[in-house]
Amino acid sequence: MTAPFKQHLIDPEICIRCYTCEMTCPIGAIHHDDNNVVVDPEACNLCMDCIPVCPTGSIDEWRVVNTAYSLEEQFDWEELPDQEDISADTQSEEGEVDEAVARLLAEAHAGAGGASKPPVSATKPVINMYNLGKPATLIVQGNYRLTDDPDHDVRHIILETNGLPFPVLEGQSVGVIPPGTDATGAVHLPRLYSVSSPRDGERPGYHNISLTVKRELDGVASNYLCDLEKGSKVQVTGPFGGTFLMPNDSDARILMICTGTGSAPMRAFTMQRQRTCRNDTGGMTMFFGARTPESLPYFGPLGKVPNSLLKQHLVFSRAPDQPKQYVQDRMLAETGAVAEMLDDPATHIYICGLKGMEDGVESALTQIAATMGAKWAPMRAAMREAGRYHVETY
Ligand code: FAD
Repeated sequence: MTAPFKQHLIDPEICIRCYTCEMTCPIGAIHHDDNNVVVDPEACNLCMDCIPVCPTGSIDEWRVVNTAYSLEEQFDWEELPDQEDISADTQSEEGEVDEAVARLLAEAHAGAGGASKPPVSATKPVINMYNLGKPATLIVQGNYRLTDDPDHDVRHIILETNGLPFPVLEGQSVGVIPPGTDATGAVHLPRLYSVSSPRDGERPGYHNISLTVKRELDGVASNYLCDLEKGSKVQVTGPFGGTFLMPNDSDARILMICTGTGSAPMRAFTMQRQRTCRNDTGGMTMFFGARTPESLPYFGPLGKVPNSLLKQHLVFSRAPDQPKQYVQDRMLAETGAVAEMLDDPATHIYICGLKGMEDGVESALTQIAATMGAKWAPMRAAMREAGRYHVETY
C-alpha cells in the first residue's frame, strides 16, 4: 500500500483558462487541452510558485489520495471530485489506541446531547491519517507564550509538516505522543489538541499547523509541548474529528462560546473567514471567558480583528475592579442578540473549553430560548440534527 499523499489540482469550474499558472510553473508541470488546465502529478514538486499568480484561486486545490488522479482523468473533469475518505485504507495497526482517541472525542462531544453531525456545507475531512503505529514527525517552528499571567502558561506552538501531507480542517484535533513511558512502562497515549490554524496553514503555503496549549500542573504532554524548542521533532497522530467543523457557506452565522484553550478552533474559524470571505460574511459572534485579560489567550491579536468580522464579548471572572462575570452571564446580558441568532436557521453554535462551562451555557441557552417561547432541548436537538450545534469540552 502506498502512503497517502497530497495532490495539487485545479478547480475546472472556477478556472478562467488564462494559463498564467502554466506560464509561471518553473518545471512545466501544468498543461491544458481544449477542456481543462491540469497539474501533472508526476512532475509537480509543490513549489507553490503558481499559487499567487492565479487570479481566481482555482489553482489552490488539494486532495489527499492513495493513487494520483491522472492527467487524462483531470482533462475530462467538469468539476473537482470530493475528498475521498482514505481513512479505511490507513487503518491503525494499534486498534486500542484509536479506540482511546475515539472515546476521548466521544466524551468531548457528549455535551451536544446526542450524536453530532457536521455542517451541511463543511468540507469532508481527512481523518486517522497517522496513528501510534505510524505517527507523523513534525518540526517545531515556533513556541510563543500567549499569556502574561505567571500562573497561566498558554503557548502558541507552530509545527511544520516536514514535507508530509497533513490536511486539517478548522475544528479538527491532532494527537501528540509525549516521549517516554508511563509508570507501567507503556508508551504514553496521545493527548488531543485542537488545531488553531486554518486549513491552508498558520501561514498560507508554508505547510504548518498551530496548536494552543495550556501547561497543566504535572501534565505529561502539556509540559512537554510548552517546553519544546524550535527545531524539536514531535510525534503527531490524526487528524481527528469529523463533526466539529465550520460551514463553508459564507452566509452562515457562527456563534462561538469558549473558555481558555477552547479558543483554539475559534481562532482557526476566524482566520479562515478572514482569508476567504473578508468582511462579507454572515457574521461571527464570540463569547470568550477567562480569569483576567492576562490569562486570555490571543488577547492582543483579538484586539486587531475588526468588529465587522467578529463581534467579541471578552468576559472575565477575576479581573480587578470588575464584577465577576462568566460567559453565561454575558450571554444572558445579551439575550436579545442571542435569541435573534437562535431564531435564524443560518446560525451555527460552537461551544469549546473546559467541561465545567457546559452547565452554565446550557442554562443560559435554556433561559434565552424561554424568552422566545421555546424549549431549548428540542431546539438544540433540531440544530444538532441540522449540523448546526457543536460541543467540544474536555
Ligand atoms: P496528564 O499527564 O494527562 O494529566 C492530566 C491531569 O492530571 C493534569 O491536569 C495534571 O495536572 C493531573 N496530574 C498528572 N499527574 C499528576 C500527579 N502526579 N499528581 C496530581 N495530578 C496529576 N488542551 C489544550 O491545552 N489545548 C487544546 O487545544 C486542547 N484540545 C483538546 C481537544 C480535545 C478533543 C480533547 C479531548 C482535549 C483537548 N485538550 C486540549 C486537553 C489535552 O488533551 C490534555 O488533556 C491536557 O493538555 C492535559 O494533558 P497532560 O498530558 O499535560 O496531562
